[in-house]
Amino acid sequence: MITIIPKGKLGLTAGELLGIVWDDRFRDISFSHPMIRDVSFERIRRFKELISNEDGIMFIKPEMANFEDLLLVHDVTLIEKLREASSLPFVGFLDEGDTVHYPGMLEDILLVAGSTLTALKFSRYLARIYIPLGGFHHATRTSPMGFCPINDVAIALKTLQSKGERVALIDVDAHHPNGLEEMFYNEKLLKINVFAYDGEFFPRTGDVKRRGEGEGFGLNFNVGLPLGSSDDAFMEALRMLELVRHFKPTYIVVVAGVDGHMDDGLKSLNLTANSYNLLGQKVFALSRELEAKVISYGGGGYGPGSSISMYSFIKGLKGQRFLPEKGTEDREKREIVKKLVNLFLESSSCCLK
Ligand SMILES: [Zn+2]
Repeated sequence: MITIIPKGKLGLTAGELLGIVWDDRFRDISFSHPMIRDVSFERIRRFKELISNEDGIMFIKPEMANFEDLLLVHDVTLIEKLREASSLPFVGFLDEGDTVHYPGMLEDILLVAGSTLTALKFSRYLARIYIPLGGFHHATRTSPMGFCPINDVAIALKTLQSKGERVALIDVDAHHPNGLEEMFYNEKLLKINVFAYDGEFFPRTGDVKRRGEGEGFGLNFNVGLPLGSSDDAFMEALRMLELVRHFKPTYIVVVAGVDGHMDDGLKSLNLTANSYNLLGQKVFALSRELEAKVISYGGGGYGPGSSISMYSFIKGLKGQRFLPEKGTEDREKREIVKKLVNLFLESSSCCLK
């Protein structure tokens, strides 16, 4: 058993190493709009350089998924559409102009889905795992959307549920996870979504009043940050993670999208890489305290600050402080988020049991 290996120089058992799912093919995979595909490639390549000499990491090679794995959360019509698009000899769009298709993309999709399934398999041995190329949270049961041909996070959530695990989802990204909300709105699964919101910003979902239904009643939290929010507002939003402690999950699934960084090409939030480190540290502390496993994803990120933000997050996930930038503040927006979080925390006690 991997977990009985004695403590190494970092004072960690093998089970406490951070698992990173990695395949060199990740360097050349992006489902983003052609205008920003190069930025997407660059962020993954640069991230790999940043972690190349990092201690305390175990690299995990992903296995390929198969079509049945996609059927866990997707309609067969979507899979047929992807198969057909992948066989076309040209580059085009799967939707109305965001999500690209290209020759042979199906292989890449199965690698992405397989990365999630491999991470779940290795979570038997490792407490915390990160998938840099993952977190495609917009795709719905039937449709690709927002650079996401499939929804790999949904595959993780569904698989964990089928094994009787108790799951909390923390989705932090500039964009609301509409696909996940739609698929798991009625499910007994804690969902904390932190994203940029003004009612118009893509994908326009994320209404504060959407609190879940049926088994999922009271378990859906849409923490919409005003556009342009800074690190201080993000810190307020992270107070929501207190609910994870009360919910006591066996698994914490984290989408740590870094497209809220101030340098991001999609211009939404005004965060620095510091925010992602604090997120990682909080998740690290929660997973230790609750003895919950962590499966985490790189999410979105389309600017020069993306890779350092990803690196900052995984530092936090290893329990390490890493604040490489001067933090940002906006007192007015912070107050707005503070009030929203207070309301959520006050009204949450009903449903976390
Ligand atoms: Zn995003």
